[in-house]
Amino acid sequence: MTSDSQTIVGMDTSAPTTGNNDPQEQTAPTPKLFEIRPSQGKGLGIFAVRNLERGTRLLAEAPLIIVTAQGVRSPEGFRTAILTEFLKLNAEQQGAFWKLAASPKRLSEAKEFISMLPSVNDDHWSTEAKASSERPVSPFAPLSRDEQSKIIAIGRTNIFGLDGTLDGVCNEASRFNHSCTPNADYTWNPALKKLTVHTVRKISAGDEITLTYVPVLESRAARRDALEPYGFECDCDVCTADARLWMLSDERRQKIYDIMQSFMHWKAMSKEDEDITEPTLDQKRLLEEAVDLVEYERLEGKTLGIIYFLSFKEGHGDELHLQHLLEAQQMYQGDDHPDTQKTKKELSEIEHPFHHITD
Ligand SMILES: [Zn+2]
Repeated sequence: MTSDSQTIVGMDTSAPTTGNNDPQEQTAPTPKLFEIRPSQGKGLGIFAVRNLERGTRLLAEAPLIIVTAQGVRSPEGFRTAILTEFLKLNAEQQGAFWKLAASPKRLSEAKEFISMLPSVNDDHWSTEAKASSERPVSPFAPLSRDEQSKIIAIGRTNIFGLDGTLDGVCNEASRFNHSCTPNADYTWNPALKKLTVHTVRKISAGDEITLTYVPVLESRAARRDALEPYGFECDCDVCTADARLWMLSDERRQKIYDIMQSFMHWKAMSKEDEDITEPTLDQKRLLEEAVDLVEYERLEGKTLGIIYFLSFKEGHGDELHLQHLLEAQQMYQGDDHPDTQKTKKELSEIEHPFHHITD
């Protein structure tokens, strides 16, 4: 989400002709993929400026700030981490950070939290303590309480979970608005050390490009609760449909979630048991059902990849299954993601089973 009215332009970083996916290594002029402009009722949004194929890389961005997910669980942990990292940014990066939106709820929470902290910088300290040379100097002394509150609120509003252990605040990626049927998806690419965003279906020129801010398999009510701190009510097609329709959507999403849970359980179990290599017929049927439901609900990004990943035992995937997984991974996280490369290798070993012998 964005708070300013600046217009910036996304460049094609997918390099389809060279096969070189590292945006830093590209020298040829690249066509614009998207622009940032006002989105009705939502501040700014990101819009396609030409027709985009499914699986187009929209951006690969090093986060402005990276923090450990573990370290930011408590309010004080979050404050310390985000302020420490903010002070490491150069002036230009700080300028970009200030332009990100802070939701009103996050801002009032941050102000309340900061107002309760004893500070070496203000009147909460007695005259004696202030005069004492032993008075500790806060590393955050350069920042006023208002600035600290704003930084915390911007951080909370725009933080992305990167890989389960790291969270990050990005500049451009923060400018996508939310949808419960997003047409793009984001992934942390540990090889690039960048957050990438890819389209997960075809997008027409002029359409808004969206990500999800909340777990998409949750019910409409749970998604609305999770979106509340962002300060808006989702007006996507699903959320604004007739109650009868969104209740059916809830049921389908719940079913996808249940199937994923059962696959996850089986995958963990199969790891321990050498005798289990093949999914059961029942599982194969459930896989087909889950894929149909995902397509029906238009959740073709990460969700699809996770379903294919969970539904076979590692090292025992058949060719067709691995091809499906590879296509999904290439689509939502790109060819240069280590997991995509791993699937590619596994597939090539099936296609050339005697490769390691003849080489
Ligand atoms: Zn929605």
